[in-house]
Amino acid sequence: MRKTRSTIIAALMAAVFIGGAAAQDRDDRYVTGTISPPAATPGGAPEWSGESGASGHPLMTAPAIRAAAASFQICLERMWPAAGRRGVSRETYQNATASLTPDLRIMDLLDNQPEFTKSFWDYLDVLVTDARIAKGRELLQKYRATFDAVEQAYGVDRNIVTAIWGVETNYGAIGGDRPVIRSTATLACIGRRQNYFREEFLSALEILQHNDVRPDRLVGSWAGAFGPTQFMPTAFKRYAVDFDHDGRRDVVDSVPDLIASTANNLCKDGWVNGQTWGYEVVIPATLNFALADRRQAMSLREWERYGVIRPGGKAFARLDELAYLLVPAGIQGPGFLMLANFNAIMKYNPAEAYALAIGHLADRLRGGERFAQDWPRYERVLTRDERLELQQLLSRHGYDVGEPDGHLGSKTRSAIRDFQSKIGQVPDGFASAVVLDRLRAR
Ligand code: CA
Repeated sequence: MRKTRSTIIAALMAAVFIGGAAAQDRDDRYVTGTISPPAATPGGAPEWSGESGASGHPLMTAPAIRAAAASFQICLERMWPAAGRRGVSRETYQNATASLTPDLRIMDLLDNQPEFTKSFWDYLDVLVTDARIAKGRELLQKYRATFDAVEQAYGVDRNIVTAIWGVETNYGAIGGDRPVIRSTATLACIGRRQNYFREEFLSALEILQHNDVRPDRLVGSWAGAFGPTQFMPTAFKRYAVDFDHDGRRDVVDSVPDLIASTANNLCKDGWVNGQTWGYEVVIPATLNFALADRRQAMSLREWERYGVIRPGGKAFARLDELAYLLVPAGIQGPGFLMLANFNAIMKYNPAEAYALAIGHLADRLRGGERFAQDWPRYERVLTRDERLELQQLLSRHGYDVGEPDGHLGSKTRSAIRDFQSKIGQVPDGFASAVVLDRLRAR
């Protein structure tokens, strides 16, 4: 992990980071299973559009895609020696690739840049529902002995593991049904992410070679994430464990393996035993919103001095813990102080809306309350074109936003704050429709 995250996710997630979300660490976990997977059409999956990708990348033009597809078998054969060096037998390789065809529909998904996107609160509404809370509690009860043993072994909160299970695939219900070998082979041979996916393809072959997951069960999202907690093949290699001791690391069909492997993943990514993920907080309107930055951690004691407190004045568990401030929807919405464990969740799923959904669902599973503060549901999420326009207008008025790209990063938020100060608004950096209107009027 922690390689360059592809712009796929950046594009898919652009609208998730509509507010004070800080610049994202790049990561390579694909979360496509939870981002409105294309509905299966009766009578078969949709075909490739035949169009060039929106990224404009030379490997994503329609002729380049066609040419790469035409030499797909040659590309596969070129990868055989690397697979052999990893201990993949010629027989395994043949069985997996002999009659394989590319899944070109994936090229559309790779370059998908949706014009309309959901708000932070829409994602939370979809991912943290009464039904998911009830189902999660049922699983916690049913597998109590396993969770006891896994918590003992890895020191990771069972509610977080269950919440990942719930958020990633609704407990296995929506993990996707694309064969991982075919998806990763397609992406390894065609399009703009071939180097990255070559490693995923080879790792998927290793899974088959070791007979860890049944071949017909090695299915998942278009990017190759599989199983109820959506392991990428390389993440599987790093984190999967055989907790039920049957000789196979089966994160798809063995619940003990699935729970323990997910816990092991968080543990290796720095989960602090006994710490929560973070806290909902109330932000004073006088706060310097430049402090709301993922790179700027302070102790909870210091945050209290800035007037950032929990709703109802509840105490923080340990005042010396370091946290960064996330204000996803500006002064009109709730704030969150994120502890080290939130970063561990972010490594699992690099989108803040998803990571917050995981933290919140975990709290609800253990009997916690809804957030105390409302979201500004009257706010409309800016479309991709509007985000671009906002950046262009800011730039035209002399604010530094970097190269306008429709992604609202820390430079853009800083520019918005400056503009808001100038027009007498609370400078929270939130890209609202009002800010855009005021810029248009100037
Ligand atoms: Ca096993």
